[in-house]
Amino acid sequence: MPDVQLLADPRRECLIGSRCRRCETYYFPPEHRQCRNPHCGQAELDEVALSRTGAIWSYTNACVSPPEPYVRRNPFVPFAIAAVLLEQERLLVLGPVVADVAVERLRIGMQMELVIEASAAEDAADEILWKWRPV
Ligand SMILES: [Zn+2]
Repeated sequence: MPDVQLLADPRRECLIGSRCRRCETYYFPPEHRQCRNPHCGQAELDEVALSRTGAIWSYTNACVSPPEPYVRRNPFVPFAIAAVLLEQERLLVLGPVVADVAVERLRIGMQMELVIEASAAEDAADEILWKWRPV
């Protein structure tokens, strides 16, 4: 799982990405070795706290359990997935939607915010997940 930073205030939890020092391209999961922009190639990237909100760019539902290394719930429960465009970074971050929001409720452009949840899987006691929920 990519880096998640947990702060004392649970409303301020955020994902950690990286940003190129030269062309300011953002990456999530964070890129640490070299900027992937073919016109840049800068080797110095900084870790940055990513925005916690954005708008749905696309969405779907997951009706089949993903393959390993996905941590499975048993039994598998279908869930919605949203690609959220972060406002400031103009970066798409894909993630599951909180369980009480069905795919039928989602709309392109809907404002979403990041939440951090403990995994419900039996064998994932220490796992945490980032999810999206409507603002
Ligand atoms: Zn760059």
